[in-house]
Amino acid sequence: MNAIAVERGETEPSLLDVPEPTPADGEVLLRTLRVGIDGTDFEVLDGNHGGFPAGDEYQILGHEAVCAVADPNGTDLTEGELVVPTVRRPAEGSHEFFERGEPDMAPPGTYRERGIEGAHGFMAEFVTTPAEFLVPIPDAFAETGVLIEPMSNTVKALELAFASRSLFEWDPKRALVLGNGPLGLLTLAMLQPTVERSYCLGRRDRPDPTIDIIEEFGATYVDSRTTPVSDIADVHEPMDLVYEATGHAKHAYDTIDVLAPNGVGVLLGIPNEWTFDIDGGRLHRELVLGNKALLGSVNSHIRHFESAKESLETLPDWFLDRIITDVYSPTELEDAFDDSTDCIKQVIDFT
Ligand code: NDP
Ligand code: ZN
Repeated sequence: MNAIAVERGETEPSLLDVPEPTPADGEVLLRTLRVGIDGTDFEVLDGNHGGFPAGDEYQILGHEAVCAVADPNGTDLTEGELVVPTVRRPAEGSHEFFERGEPDMAPPGTYRERGIEGAHGFMAEFVTTPAEFLVPIPDAFAETGVLIEPMSNTVKALELAFASRSLFEWDPKRALVLGNGPLGLLTLAMLQPTVERSYCLGRRDRPDPTIDIIEEFGATYVDSRTTPVSDIADVHEPMDLVYEATGHAKHAYDTIDVLAPNGVGVLLGIPNEWTFDIDGGRLHRELVLGNKALLGSVNSHIRHFESAKESLETLPDWFLDRIITDVYSPTELEDAFDDSTDCIKQVIDFT
């Protein structure tokens, strides 16, 4: 069968012919319909994040999938039903976090991640996975369901952020999203019902489709080249909530400056190593005297996928039409993984 994978020593994906998987007991055979591409896939390709399955000379990419059940293999699922698989699977050894339904909180080394860390991903005609890692979705989500995985990461991150402010009255009215990639834009969309004013940071010239989306939501586009994050509180206003989705390490520390007292910043970007100067004393003081919180968040578990599914239902059609910009067949690899164009979310369609 066809699979899109990165081979050892390479930084570009290839279309490989690999053996079709056979489901083990408790596993379901899935026919892949669509797989989304995101910033993490490029980090995997560059070798900055994740790792190959032990002993394999290639890693099948992809962690944002919509599949159809090809063989329920004795599970409760039905043939043809659409599902979205979660990403984390237990590694050898302790399964404590999986057993209590919190694989997203498992420490590094105790899990594998499909398409990212030590396990093959979903960019193949067929994949197998235990039924417990599948979220059934309505047929109407066949095309947009690839957004459920990234949205589930935001569901979790916002849940953590709100939980950290839950001991006092906190009613966030101003939110800033750092990053106008797919994760940033999905988060901007998901925040609309909650906040009164929203801002989204990018570094692009107009005309640009992401700026159009930001403004269509009534949000303010902030260009980091003219308004660095550390100036945003003065130029615009201090923020109750900051969501970082750039992977630009300085933004983590600049977030402390842009937060209003009692605000929370949640960091999702995955930066490379980068040494730079910061005034640690001032940032420490700001955090303490401002009752501010800075949190990291990674991955999500099945309950977040369920919430993301509900949240997807509420997103406006115009937005869904515009965020998935490019749909490619597996043979159009080069274009699919070319992130230099105007694309926002690229998707590989295996049908
Ligand atoms: P992208 O790389 O597509 O998006 C990042 C966006 O941030 C780009 O639009 C980029 O702009 C913008 N950006 C980067 N640096 C700056 C800057 N200095 N000023 C202004 N804008 C900037 O990634 P995704 O949207 O898919 O994901 C965002 C990040 O979150 C990635 O690091 C990804 O690995 C991570 N991630 C983390 C998850 C988690 O659970 N923690 C889950 C999913 C993703 P431009 O395109 O113009 O360069
Ligand atoms: Zn993703």
